[in-house]
Amino acid sequence: MRHPILLVLVFAITASFATACGSSGTNEASALCADNGVTTFIVDNHPNGAHTLDVALADVSAAVEVTYDIQGNNTGHGHTVTVTADDFIALAAGTVLTLESSDTGAVGQDHTHPVTLSCSPQT
Ligand SMILES: [Zn+2]
Repeated sequence: MRHPILLVLVFAITASFATACGSSGTNEASALCADNGVTTFIVDNHPNGAHTLDVALADVSAAVEVTYDIQGNNTGHGHTVTVTADDFIALAAGTVLTLESSDTGAVGQDHTHPVTLSCSPQT
């Protein structure tokens, strides 16, 4: 009769360790972004036909590489910005990221935009 009880105890202890390790890090990292949102800024944006970038909290939590279309209101050309898994992790930890958008690819209108992303409180 002793053996089954011992097994249940060992299982319960192991299970509680696994739960604690799995949840703490991710939730803490996401809290900064959940509180402040993800602020984005597109440098050298066009006065007429501004590009826009919205980064969902779910993307930060997932921490999987995403390529965003930032064309926004521009009818002439678009760009994309790729945020890697490591970028999302850094963002959630409070790092201000500066990424470079893709080129337009349009002859005579070649340009890129630096794009900043931050979960830090706005000052
Ligand atoms: Zn542009």
